[in-house]
This record gives sequence, C-alpha cells and structure tokens, in this order.
Amino acid sequence: MLGFFPTLYPGELLYSAIARYQIRSGNLSPKLTIEELFNSRSITATADLPCGLDNLVKNLPPHSLITVDSLIQHHTLYPFYCPFLPPKRARQIEISMRGIYGGNIHTRAGIMASAINTPQYFRFCPDCLQETLDKYGETYWHRLHQVPGVLFCPIHKIPLQNSQIPIQGFSKHEYYAASLENCPVDSERQNYGKAIAKRLITLSQDSFYLLENTFPSRTREWFTKRYQTLLIEKGYANSTGRVRQKRLIEDFVFFYGKDFLQAIDSMVSYEDESNWLSQIVRKHRKVFHPIRHLLMIRFLTDSIDTFFQNNKQYRPFGRSPWLCLNGAAEHYLQPVITDLKVSHCLENKKPLGTFTCSCGMIYSRSGEDQTEEDKLRIGRVITYGQVWEDKLRELLEVKKLGLRATARELRVDTNTVKRYVALLNLTPTWTNNQPQIKPKKALLIDKKDIKQQKRDKWLNLQQENPELSKTELRKLAPDIYAWLYHHDREWLNKNSPKLKQPKSSINKVDWNTRDGEILAQAQNAVSKMLEKNKPVRITVGRIGATLGLKTLLDKHLDKLLQTKAYLDSVTETVEDFQIRRIKWAVEELEYGGEEIKEWKILKLAGLQDNLTPKVRTYLEKQLKASKF
Ligand SMILES: [Zn+2]
Ligand SMILES: [Zn+2]
Repeated sequence: MLGFFPTLYPGELLYSAIARYQIRSGNLSPKLTIEELFNSRSITATADLPCGLDNLVKNLPPHSLITVDSLIQHHTLYPFYCPFLPPKRARQIEISMRGIYGGNIHTRAGIMASAINTPQYFRFCPDCLQETLDKYGETYWHRLHQVPGVLFCPIHKIPLQNSQIPIQGFSKHEYYAASLENCPVDSERQNYGKAIAKRLITLSQDSFYLLENTFPSRTREWFTKRYQTLLIEKGYANSTGRVRQKRLIEDFVFFYGKDFLQAIDSMVSYEDESNWLSQIVRKHRKVFHPIRHLLMIRFLTDSIDTFFQNNKQYRPFGRSPWLCLNGAAEHYLQPVITDLKVSHCLENKKPLGTFTCSCGMIYSRSGEDQTEEDKLRIGRVITYGQVWEDKLRELLEVKKLGLRATARELRVDTNTVKRYVALLNLTPTWTNNQPQIKPKKALLIDKKDIKQQKRDKWLNLQQENPELSKTELRKLAPDIYAWLYHHDREWLNKNSPKLKQPKSSINKVDWNTRDGEILAQAQNAVSKMLEKNKPVRITVGRIGATLGLKTLLDKHLDKLLQTKAYLDSVTETVEDFQIRRIKWAVEELEYGGEEIKEWKILKLAGLQDNLTPKVRTYLEKQLKASKF
C-alpha cells in the first residue's frame, strides 16, 4: 500500500504522474518504485499504453478515487486507438494493460506495423508549459502532445517542441518527469507554412476529441461499409461500391497537399498499388492507424461525430421494409419486404434493386426511388412465387373466373395470366367453349353481349391453341375474326399473339422463363453463402438444397442453360474450396494481429497437413507474402 500518490492533472499521462511519484517518494532506485507500484520489477516505463494497472490501483492509498477504467480512459492513449480496433482486439489490449505482461500491446494496437512514426522525444507546448507552471507550480507530460501525428497544440495553435527526454527512456524502467530544464523553449519555432499549419491544427483537434470522448471500437465490416457508403455519396464509387481509385487519390492529395501528407507520413500515389488509401477503402484486412482514419474522416465528412454517429448507408430505395407488390398476397402494398439486394445496372448505370418477399415474389426495378409512386413500380417480375400461383389456380379452377377478372384480381395483365396458365398447365373455364354469360342474361342479347361473346371465343381459341399465330387462328375461326376485325379492331390487336413462334415454342419459352427465375435465385443464394463469416463450399447440391430445388437441378440442369453456365462458374472443387479457406484464415489472422504461421492457418482453415501440390503452393505464397 502506498502512503500517497500524486493527483493526476487534466490530460496528464499516467507515466508522468509516476515520474512525479518517483521524485516525491525519495526512492533512489527506479526499480524500487516499480516494485512499490506494481509488485513487479519487470514493468517497462511506457508512455502511451502502459500495463500493470490492476496492481497499481490496488496499491493506491485507501481514500483514492482512481480506478483502472479512469486511468485507461483519461491518462493513456487507449481512447485514441480503441475506436479503430476490432472489439475483440481492443478488449485484449485492455486486459493486457490491466495485467503485468504488456508484451504484445503495441503489436495488437497496430502501432508496430504502421508506417506512421511514433515520436522520438516527449513533446510539449511552450504555452501549456508556462500555464501549468503558473497554475500548479509544476509541469507535466500531456498525453495529447505525445500522440503520433499531433504536431500542434490545438489550444494555443502553435507547433509542439521536442523535450530532451526520449520516449523510450534512457533506461527501460525509469520514469522521467517534465521540467523547465528538460523542456527548453526554442525561440525559433518550426515554420510549417499557413496551409499545412491549418491542417495540422485540425488533426490535433480531432485527436484531442478522440481522447476526450469515449467512442466504442467497431468491427472491420463496419468500417468497410461506412467508407463504402461515404465514397458512393461523394461519387468516388459507383452504387455497388466499386471505387474510382485514380480520382480518389488525386482528389485526396489535392485536398491535403503533399507537404502536409509527408509531414505525417501519409503520402499516397496512384503508381504505388499498395498505397494505404487504396487499402483502407477496400475490405479491411488489417488495422489502420487512427491518423489515417482521421484523414479519411475529414476528407469524406465534416466531423468525427458525423462519421461515427451518422450510421447511414447508401439507400437508393430508402429504408427497409419495402412494399410487397404481389396482388395475390394478403400483405399486398404493405411494407413487409426486408430482403433487398442492390446491384449496379451496366446498361443505364443506375442502381438496380431486387426485392425478395416472404410470400415468394421476387421483383426488381431500377432506382433511385424519388417519389411515393416509384415505390409501387415493378420493373421486372423475376418470380411470382407460390402464393401467387396458388391464388391463380384458385381463381381459375375453383372460383371459375374469366381471364380479365382473374387478371384484375391478381393485378397483372391478361397476358401474364395466359402465360402462367400455360406454364402451370391450368384448366380455366374459358378453355371449355362455354360463353361466360349467365343464361338469364343471354336472353337479353344486345350488341354488347355479342361483343363479349366474340371476345371470349377469340381468347378461348388462343388458349386452346397457344402455339398458333394470329394468321393461323384466323383460319380456324374466320367469322369471329372478321366480326372483331370490323367491330372491335383495337381490342383484337391487343389480344392476339404478337409473334409467330415455332411449333415447340411453349416448352422452350417455359424453360427459358424458368431458367431466368432460377438463375436469379441461385445468384441470390450464392452471394448469401459468400457473405457467411466462415466459408462454406459452393456446390450445386448446396444451392439446390437452399432453394428447395434440389431435384430440379439434379434432373434438368441441362435445360437451364444460363443457370448451368452460372453454376459452372461459381461451384468449387475441393481444392478451390481449400484455397479459399486458406485465404480466409490468413485474413482472419492478419486482422486479429496474430503472427502468420503455417500451423495456425491450417488449424483455422480446418485442414490437415496432406495438401495437394496446388494448395501447398498457394499456402507457401501466402506465408511468403505475410513476411513483408
Ligand atoms: Zn498549448
Ligand atoms: Zn409479399
């Protein structure tokens, strides 16, 4: 138990307070101080992310209000790194800071791997120095001034100066307090030029803001998505998130200026393919230094708050849920659809939304939705689904409705009804040659009824002979044709087969339609499989099982030309799948800040040592690449 511990000043590093303790305790040996504070002689004097905090807090005088959390939050650089670390990794760092073995803290925080230089010497602001002396009679190390990339005091807006104390210390276990002696004020300030100074001040203000506010850590997916959304909004990526690298890099360098970017070790060039800017806008494979995130945040938004709090994505079709447009569904026109895939239409360069409803209907339209009416628009129906098909059957075969009444009920045009009658082999009443007029009414035959009869007969004729062209139908029923031609020509033109089709056309068209539907469903299923965090092998069997179309794909895949070509291109051999698992495992390890070792990759990927030569070569390549 310590007899006393110095009161920590606002924004003071814990390191700095320990240095003051060392002086006031009168201990001659720094090792004795460490022993007293941490119950360990091996603790290294660390400025940014120190360890041993649990023991230190336990040893504090009984009346002390200091907690481990308050030390981490207010007197270390943890809040500067935390928001940009994956939650698991941030937690591991916190645990290490509590314990007495701090070995991997800096690796985990991504500090070791970063190209951003850490300061060599403790830094200070001459004006802050004078103010603290006036106020407290002594001075201290400000944590903000030691943040990598912070070269200005955000309060006094002057450049920071180097003290004579190296951050790594003259001795590993000794703490050095700030003083007038080791912080000599250099009257000749470093001159950065006005434009750079302005940027450096903003950067130090943002770093200060991070330190003083508790932003939670976020997953890599969060950052990937957030950047994607912002890049799309700013026109640096298309609606699918494909980044216009050249334009992005040029604008970024123009925005900040080369000198500024060089001053904080963050220059980028388009010629260098592995530049950090191109990497940070891709799927995140590693942790990026907070400074680089701050640069991105200021480039793409107006503030850190906007970046973190405004969690919005690019939404060309607005927010979930969307309207079901299936006329047969009970939830017709209700906002029930939560499954929307947005892709990019190559032809019109617009976002294309594919809406999948729980009732089975899948439709698409191109965006963006501007008005309420846009939300009611179907661009293309990919499949009507089971609910719709059942209702069609019921209307035709149980309720025995006519063609137009059925179409009206289902809110589709008559041609769609006809197409599905053929597709599903339905037997509607209008395929029997009975007129649809009730006998009672038939007594009052007038011109209107005659017209109706002729129309129905013409439609029935088509229904019975779906493969015939208009000319061929005319030959079958010349009188009906002639009557309609003279009395109802517009209707006749609208309600006749459009094109002369070959004899076997119905079957062919059916498979074509089915092919298109199944292709869309298969693409949907595959992209869902690829999104899974742990890889699953893409096989025809698995896709079939997911879609409930296993038998169809087993037996008739040869008739589904597009679907077959697509499945051939995406399904994986065992080797393909092993390679994908290795790639995934390497990414996981890199992202977790772990060393890339062969046994770790194999274990994570669930592989044995007996790899085929192709897979082995791939693994070796990955191991080699991770060395840099
Ligand atoms: Zn200052
Ligand atoms: Zn629906």
